[in-house]
Amino acid sequence: KNISSFLKEMQRLSKNPIQNSYLRNAYDREFRRARAKLPFYAFRHTILEELEKNDMLIIIGHTGSGKTTQVPQYLLEAGFAKNRKIVCTQPRKIASISVCKRIAFELDCEHTNLVDFKTVRTFLNKQELERKKKFNHKDNKLLLMTDRLLLQEYKKDNLLRKYSCIIIDEAHERTLFTDILLCELKKLVPKRRQMKNPLKLIIMSATIDETKISNYLNSCKVITIPGQLYPVKVFYEKIEQDYVSQSIRKIKHLIESNKLTGHALVFLASLDDLKKAQNKLKVDNDKYSVMILHGNMNMEEQSKVFEELDSKIKIIFTTNVAETSITINGVKVIIDSGRVKQKVYDQDRNISILKLKFINQSSAQQRKGRAGRMQSGECYRLYELKDLENMEFSCEPEILRMHLGIVCLELLSFGVDNIIEYDLIDKPDRNDIIKSIKKLESLGFVEYGKITENGRIAADLGLEPMISRMIIEGINLGIGIDMIKIAAMLTITNILYKKDLTKDEKNQAKVQNSNTKGDLFTLLSIYNQFSQNKFKTQYSWCNANRYYCNALRFAKQTYGELYNIIKTRLNKNIIFDQSKKEDLILKAICSGLHLQLAYFNGVVNRQNVYKLYELNQEVFIHNESVLNVLGNSDIDSIVLYTELNQHDRLYIKNLTPVSHELLSQYSRIDLDKLKKESKKELLINNINIQVIEKIKGNNSEMQQQIEELIG
Ligand code: ADP
Ligand code: MG
Repeated sequence: KNISSFLKEMQRLSKNPIQNSYLRNAYDREFRRARAKLPFYAFRHTILEELEKNDMLIIIGHTGSGKTTQVPQYLLEAGFAKNRKIVCTQPRKIASISVCKRIAFELDCEHTNLVDFKTVRTFLNKQELERKKKFNHKDNKLLLMTDRLLLQEYKKDNLLRKYSCIIIDEAHERTLFTDILLCELKKLVPKRRQMKNPLKLIIMSATIDETKISNYLNSCKVITIPGQLYPVKVFYEKIEQDYVSQSIRKIKHLIESNKLTGHALVFLASLDDLKKAQNKLKVDNDKYSVMILHGNMNMEEQSKVFEELDSKIKIIFTTNVAETSITINGVKVIIDSGRVKQKVYDQDRNISILKLKFINQSSAQQRKGRAGRMQSGECYRLYELKDLENMEFSCEPEILRMHLGIVCLELLSFGVDNIIEYDLIDKPDRNDIIKSIKKLESLGFVEYGKITENGRIAADLGLEPMISRMIIEGINLGIGIDMIKIAAMLTITNILYKKDLTKDEKNQAKVQNSNTKGDLFTLLSIYNQFSQNKFKTQYSWCNANRYYCNALRFAKQTYGELYNIIKTRLNKNIIFDQSKKEDLILKAICSGLHLQLAYFNGVVNRQNVYKLYELNQEVFIHNESVLNVLGNSDIDSIVLYTELNQHDRLYIKNLTPVSHELLSQYSRIDLDKLKKESKKELLINNINIQVIEKIKGNNSEMQQQIEELIG
């Protein structure tokens, strides 16, 4: 009864109802939902009753049991969206869109906008843009969005008046934005109660440390919904170093033994892995379709993975973007490599390190939970039970492993003055906070403990602060567009397409497109050439130039996002045309990156060695750098880098050589001393080599040098 009266209400509200479909297809609707089968269904009244009694509620339930798709619907039916809206957040765009589509489908209101998702415009394809144009967003009843977007709304209206109920889904992911939202909402809920306009807050997850969160939220009520939809059988095997090959072998084995009767989802660590796997796995293309799914894909490409291909079995290689919230129809087999690639920011050394890591127990459970949603399934873990037991319980909250500058800017931007005292679930180290605020001061983003206008732009951009600095300086110099393009290119990795390229071919491809002014200039010219193509010719242009088309398309999309942010903030057109452009670009780069500096320090085993200015550590130039291909052994050479990566040794990435003269305009570093240092080091290196050859001879020049050194 409840359901049908609710649907009638929906029909009344809908400006564009499909004729009579709501009432005609009552049976179809129930079939669409199959909701009565879900473990959550039996507890819907319990959930609503508890919500009546409590303003904050934590709901725990097994993966696939109906949290994400059902709870928002129960709230709709209970009338929470009568005067205000319900919002449900997801950690990722992919999830917020696919969940929205599913709920709209279950409610049979796909052709309305009662259930809608909010995302950045540039992410939308034409069809979605058209659909959105047709409707008034005021009619939304249930909204899905990322936690980041909700936090942005909160900055504009810190009572979140639009909403009657907020669901923070997949809270175990503990993104920066989830953590900040929890802290703010914890204060807002009692405030709204006092204003006699209560706001309900629901936290949901299958795998969260509920005691910790409950304690944090003033001992808030936890309800655990028992039950699981379909069983997923788990198999373990011995861990191998080359997990990509191991996964492929596993797939092949399943195919050969006729065990692959449904779609397979294979969790690997990085885009590189996905490409490698896609190229390596040879299957009968009439029967199987090999696909990849990762975060650097636009909506169009992502949605392909969700489409049904008649009678073909999909083998989907994915990273952890597919780990939570999503249901891909017909997935029966999960292969979990147990690995993830995570960017960890080392606050001490001020470097970000891309680390290949073992996943945690919560991830393992989530990955397994992508099966068992429509039917029973199997999960093959490419590790043993003892390895699982050795894994961390849950992932480290993002706030503890990301660039603190971004965290501080975000907090400062909505008026948190005292970051050290700010009541976060997990707090970053006090000294690190102080250090990072000092850095923000030096970039002009903070003054007297308060965020500056430029700081606000940087917070909106959400990039590493020094990259935002480059953009802002670029705007001042009249070359903002170029700097946004460079920043967008820096958000993607792996633009070079590795398929079947020999080392020589790779180098050739690199040289062909290299700009001697360094990697950032090279990225810019690649971007410009790429975007001269229409959508249709992009792919062939990329193939001819050995670039990975999806990555470049993603950069283009990111460019649009960044451009819009700047435009909204500055309220002016930022297209300029400048002569002497390259000099200006170099200046903007310098203003952002002047602290990330390495100087040439000699040659070891025919490889150039550099030394980091701040850390006084030896580093090598990353393989992908154009400087590596073009060669560079200028004694006075100083390079600025955007990334420091640790593999077998330390590598600097995305390099731009700069002159001492230019650098001295931006940095207080004693360049003369630096010059001497680098010469001295060089000399010592040279002496080492020469000593062997000439120690017996009476080399007066060298003796003099040595004396100078000792002196
Ligand atoms: P949870 O959030 O608890 O993991 P969901 O609410 O996402 O669970 O999904 C509950 C169930 O609804 C799934 O187990 C599946 O049976 C069904 N379901 C959800 N999304 C889809 C979809 N896109 N296609 C088909 N079935 C789906
Ligand atoms: Mg879910």
